[in-house]
Amino acid sequence: MRKFISIFSLLLILVLAAAGGAFAQNDPEWTEAFPGFRVAGNLYYVGSKGLASYLVVTPAGNILINSDLEANVPLIRASIEGLGFKFSDTKILLISHAHFDHDAGSAKIKELTGASYMVMDADVPVVESGGKADFQYGNRAEFLYPPAKVDRVLHDGDEVKLGGAVLVAHLTPGHTKGCTTWTMKVTEGGKTYNVVIVGSPNVNPGYKLVHNDAYPQIARDYQRTFDVLKALPCDIFLGAHGGYFGLEEKYAHRGESGRRPKAAPTPGGDTDGPTSGADKAGAANPFIDPAGYKKFVTEKEQEFRAELEKQTDAAK
Ligand SMILES: [Zn+2]
Repeated sequence: MRKFISIFSLLLILVLAAAGGAFAQNDPEWTEAFPGFRVAGNLYYVGSKGLASYLVVTPAGNILINSDLEANVPLIRASIEGLGFKFSDTKILLISHAHFDHDAGSAKIKELTGASYMVMDADVPVVESGGKADFQYGNRAEFLYPPAKVDRVLHDGDEVKLGGAVLVAHLTPGHTKGCTTWTMKVTEGGKTYNVVIVGSPNVNPGYKLVHNDAYPQIARDYQRTFDVLKALPCDIFLGAHGGYFGLEEKYAHRGESGRRPKAAPTPGGDTDGPTSGADKAGAANPFIDPAGYKKFVTEKEQEFRAELEKQTDAAK
């Protein structure tokens, strides 16, 4: 019996390891197309089912957040064009953080659009080395990608401005050294909303929170991230993966009227056009979810603290 259990356990471990490995690189939802739609004001979702990308539309051109995998570039382009915008109007490219699932397509997008690539200081070496400078995955071939030249190095609190839109780069490190949470304001139905696009609060499998020679201040950085996230005012809760904020569920609960702009989209967040998240009956836009944001941040901080405690105890 004992032998049976040990063989069974071993098999289970192998199966879980294989599934975990596959998930890290090849989650099929990452490259599954998702309809482009207007979140609110001049902010649009143009990502896949599993990898979030956003387009901020302005009269001076557009800002794209997250290039995702190289395989996602045609999907992002199709979403942008499907919404009635020009891919070539992408003037600025930003990322949530320097991991291949959010930045591997950047070199391609720069080449196709000529966009100016702006990245948080501590993520710049990773982006420009195609992932080789990453503290955790730098020597893992399956995590590397085409390097891309950064045109503007961002620092905590820097503003990215284009055609009246202002995005603020908040350093929320730990997951990567330069992990960035983006905030902006959108206007919808005469009201102004605070948007938060969370960079990532996740402690990945294998991350060393104690005695990490490649990233000695990692635990302090995560704590800083949670302090920053808790202090940000948030009405519209978004993030680098749809799973953070319930993309599919919220998308399903939004009104018919917002699924596609009826007329040519009005740049600059003009709110006289079709409603976005709000449905015909005037129900609230499901992406306006301050309670969901607070719950997410609280849960992620608890996960981090539990993992830190576990690793601290094990190191004793
Ligand atoms: Zn990541």
